[in-house]
Amino acid sequence: MNSLLTTVDFKTLSTYNPELKNVVILATGGTIAGSGEAHKTLNYEPGALPISDLLASVPHLDEVANCAGIQVSNLCSADITVSHWLTLASIINSLAGRDDIHGFVITHGTDTLDETSYFLNLVLKTDKPVIITGSMRPATAISADGPLNLYQSVALAANPEACGMGVMVVFAEGIYSGRDVQKVNTFKANAFDERDFGCLGYMRDSEAFFYTRTLKKHTTAAQFDVSALSSLPEVSVAYFHVDANPGILDYLATLSQGIIIAGAGGGIYSKSWIDKVGELKQSNIPVVRCSRISSGITLKDAYIDLSSNSIPCNSLVPQKARILLSLALTQTKDYDRIAAMYNEY
Ligand code: ASP
Repeated sequence: MNSLLTTVDFKTLSTYNPELKNVVILATGGTIAGSGEAHKTLNYEPGALPISDLLASVPHLDEVANCAGIQVSNLCSADITVSHWLTLASIINSLAGRDDIHGFVITHGTDTLDETSYFLNLVLKTDKPVIITGSMRPATAISADGPLNLYQSVALAANPEACGMGVMVVFAEGIYSGRDVQKVNTFKANAFDERDFGCLGYMRDSEAFFYTRTLKKHTTAAQFDVSALSSLPEVSVAYFHVDANPGILDYLATLSQGIIIAGAGGGIYSKSWIDKVGELKQSNIPVVRCSRISSGITLKDAYIDLSSNSIPCNSLVPQKARILLSLALTQTKDYDRIAAMYNEY
């Protein structure tokens, strides 16, 4: 068993309250654990403060739930790797079976939080709430947003209404699905959104108000099992633009078992790229077509016939389509089976 797990014993908390739910907080770093010049929002170090400081910074957290912290890593989320994802999945999947654990919160850098959310949404085998959060301002900034985000995430993780909803993100009083959440602003505190799909609900203080749920498969209904894996098939993303060199695809094929194309419009690309994608199919390297536009859908029947050699991504953005292809490749290289997954997940 992972040695991090032995630290989870709620009854040793000085504030332990048997009337409250028990929530495990997994800290990975990011701006929420960032430290810099007092009151400033720039020039700070992400992933500098330990989980104990984060928990101590939230007044009245011990009235919402009993919280046990695990420091999984402490880094900028640009440095999150598949290995961190597999560790998070293994810890949560192991602890989720315990009757005395009711929910999980992951603190994470905001830059890749959307990717970690979607990965975990596909591989966790629990209906218990798993909430991911972060902050846009470091803990030392004026009006730091981390404490409210963490407070509301713990409240949602302790809320039975949040069971079976898949991995969710709580940010700036919004509740978002792990599938559709996306960072939409580089610096504002209200930096997350679900594009065309809005949000799942709102947080007001510690209360949750749900209005919708995702219809796409997740967690206990998902077919992916990473418990025996120490790595995932490598998938790269190619960004199409005017006069883009098809040699980029050749190069990526040397690194990857599958390729995502962030195409123009509804996921289109030039004739030279179409030819190259046909060659990749011959080489058994699946190509998934996405769009560099962040809203809408990429379908089989775009007006150019791109369908025969590539798989449309449905409504996933390229970085999330990459995760699904990587997981799909742990099971199959068959185009029809992979295409079906893009409709299901
Ligand atoms: N660069 C930081 C990170 O992703 C940004 C943040 O957390 O807001 O770790």
